[in-house]
Amino acid sequence: MTRLSPRHPRYASLRIRARLAESARKGIVVPEGLIAHGRAEAFDYFLGERTTPSAREAIRAAATWLVNAERPVVSVNGNVASLAASSLAALQRVRPGLQVEVNLFHRTPGRAARIARVLTDAGVHDVLGVRPTGRIPGLPSDRAHVDRRGILVADVCLVPLEDGDRTEALQAMGKRVIAIDLNPLSRTARAADIPIIDELTRALDALTREVRRAGPRRPSEFDPFDARGALRAAQAAMARGLQRAGGRPRSEPRASPRSSPATPRRSRRTP
Ligand code: ATP
Repeated sequence: MTRLSPRHPRYASLRIRARLAESARKGIVVPEGLIAHGRAEAFDYFLGERTTPSAREAIRAAATWLVNAERPVVSVNGNVASLAASSLAALQRVRPGLQVEVNLFHRTPGRAARIARVLTDAGVHDVLGVRPTGRIPGLPSDRAHVDRRGILVADVCLVPLEDGDRTEALQAMGKRVIAIDLNPLSRTARAADIPIIDELTRALDALTREVRRAGPRRPSEFDPFDARGALRAAQAAMARGLQRAGGRPRSEPRASPRSSPATPRRSRRTP
């Protein structure tokens, strides 16, 4: 893997990129997954690369749903396995009974097996979906393949980095969908019952903490969640982030550095 300096201002983001690139070389992540990550990075930039208060609320609601679910399942693709296998193992430890299912847009038997291996090596147990045994009705081809013990019978599906068609098909089957997606405009985020607009690993780690803290289990009780409000709050947070990044409004006159010796010098930025 490329050597990266922890002093680089974008160290965390570069590490994630290097990990995804390595996973692509190993046939775990597909090129389309790298592009999807790039799109998400832009949204995280606008958020200031932090979990917003509204995302935290969504995470708390999601934790309660996962605890109260009868048959909760998390759907895993190549990007999720590459970035968050150990986070998923931790989530499964605090929520016994949580099924982890490999569910791929670009499926080959070899790739599904490699992803399952990454998960198992990180401590996830009973990985489903390597040899699918069921289908989601109304979805074409490979995207419909699921496991009869997992997604097919789940009442609550956690879908990090999912595509819109599948999210809608899961809902058409009567399932409650919790999405993790940095793009508040994606069809997945807009269709989900609980959209968590946050970066995958931050969201999963916070979700694990919230599941640990959740009160006693109330089987099949699902408190309502204001999904539209969560999307609006995420968009507003991003708009504020963009404004902050843009600095002072254009209409404000610039102070000349010569006429004002007290003006602080702009720091030089690493390209
Ligand atoms: P949709 O079909 O829902 O409109 P899409 O076509 O925009 O989605 P896909 O490629 O199907 O996108 O799904 C990937 C989604 O996952 C994107 O919305 C992207 O923003 C999001 N995503 C990718 N990486 C991350 C990440 N690390 N954390 C959070 N979200 C991510």
